[in-house]
Amino acid sequence: MSRKALIAANWKMYKTPAEAKAFVDAFLSLVAGHTRDEIALFPSPVLLPTVVEAARGSIVSVGAQNIHFAEEGAYTGETSARQLTAVGGTHTLIGHSERRQYFGETDAIVNQKLHTAIKHGIVPVVCIGEVLEEREAGKTEQVLKTQVTGAFAGIAALAAEVVSSIVIAYEPVWAIGTGLTATPEMAADAHRMIRAEVGKLLSPAVAAHMRILYGGSVKPDNATALLSQEEIDGALVGGASLKPESFTAIVKY
Ligand code: PEP
Repeated sequence: MSRKALIAANWKMYKTPAEAKAFVDAFLSLVAGHTRDEIALFPSPVLLPTVVEAARGSIVSVGAQNIHFAEEGAYTGETSARQLTAVGGTHTLIGHSERRQYFGETDAIVNQKLHTAIKHGIVPVVCIGEVLEEREAGKTEQVLKTQVTGAFAGIAALAAEVVSSIVIAYEPVWAIGTGLTATPEMAADAHRMIRAEVGKLLSPAVAAHMRILYGGSVKPDNATALLSQEEIDGALVGGASLKPESFTAIVKY
């Protein structure tokens, strides 16, 4: 099964509009002619219009780091799916570990956001992963199963082609922003577990089509080893996505 890789940049709470535009201008010339992979940038909401405009007509898609599950309402500080699509965003991260850790996002909230993204035709990138204590206690498989089951509640009832477009990002929390990386074999093992679980919850065909990205200290010097694993269908990159040169080196692994 060949799945087109998605290489995604999570810029977290970095960059001004001028810095974001300078990144996109430089990056687009560095990746000119690159067609092997899909590329997506996930900037802060305030940067979305600038980044969408700068990337217009290129192979680069733009998405949010988070959306709210409600259509609209009194949710100070939040961004709705409709607001995202209105400014040209096509993707969204859901349930990033920093959202889970600092903003109390649960699997139930992740599930609501997933339904909202799908309803609005937004490509969701659902982030899951275990913390260090869970890995050390031998609970990784159990944690990933619980997160996948929670995120995907009610999803089996939707059309297969819609469901297959969901992307999962496996991000062991202990590897995010720490410089520690799962070995390619550890990541591939986790991806196999996740795909098996998706196969049980949805269908083997949907699971075979679904892209599972790896995230957690992906850098130019470890990207090839990780991304050449059959089970790894792309990367979600934080720190190393902030400079056009290092993100390009990962895109061109
Ligand atoms: C992330 O923010 O999703 C991430 C993986 O960050 P980093 O690459 O810096 O570990």
